[in-house]
Amino acid sequence: LSSVKKSHTTGGSHLASSHSLSSSTKRSTFFGNFFGSSLQPPVPEKPRLVSCVVCMDEERPVHRTAKLKCGHRMCYPCLKRNFKLSITDPQNMPPKCCTADHIPLKHVEHLFDTAFKQTWNRKLAEYTTRNRIYCPSRNCGEWIRPEDIRRGEDGRKYGRCSRCKTKVCYVCHGRWHYSRECPRDDETNQFLEQAKREGWQRCHRCKHMVELQEGCNHMTW
Ligand SMILES: [Zn+2]
Ligand SMILES: [Zn+2]
Ligand SMILES: [Zn+2]
Ligand SMILES: [Zn+2]
Ligand SMILES: [Zn+2]
Repeated sequence: LSSVKKSHTTGGSHLASSHSLSSSTKRSTFFGNFFGSSLQPPVPEKPRLVSCVVCMDEERPVHRTAKLKCGHRMCYPCLKRNFKLSITDPQNMPPKCCTADHIPLKHVEHLFDTAFKQTWNRKLAEYTTRNRIYCPSRNCGEWIRPEDIRRGEDGRKYGRCSRCKTKVCYVCHGRWHYSRECPRDDETNQFLEQAKREGWQRCHRCKHMVELQEGCNHMTW
């Protein structure tokens, strides 16, 4: 069999070589083009376009989006907006998509500078603390961190504003008062009644009662 094959190869050498030549020419042209293009300055490949679940833009370059655990993709501008919003809105802290899962920080760490990240960390701690209390001092309103809340010798809990050092009653969230009886139950309720009658409203941030006309420095609307 081998001798037959050999004789065939030898015998039809012209035909065979002409055939293989034409096929190898085609082949080398193909590879020539392929390799040739990589020798020229690289032409950026068109990125795959995907859609963002928030803005519904269907033409977001895939490398400018994050793929979330829920399967959705969120574009960088939308991620940036969500995280910026989260530092002013406890409802959006920490940012999520359609499930209870938080959006992992690895998706956004290159989108923000150190100053923003520090602010974000502080706001995360603030907004995820239950029963938050704020400094009742009119021009302050700083959040009183749990580590700044202590129990005094008499057993009563108080907070100390880290910004203006105001001492705060933990029970009524007002300024510290020396009487053991916290006015929360009676006096505060009376005050709220009066405030309601006279059209005052509670500042959403510092829980101050403020007259509508006057406004509180924390009121943004
Ligand atoms: Zn988007
Ligand atoms: Zn989702
Ligand atoms: Zn303060
Ligand atoms: Zn009190
Ligand atoms: Zn306020």
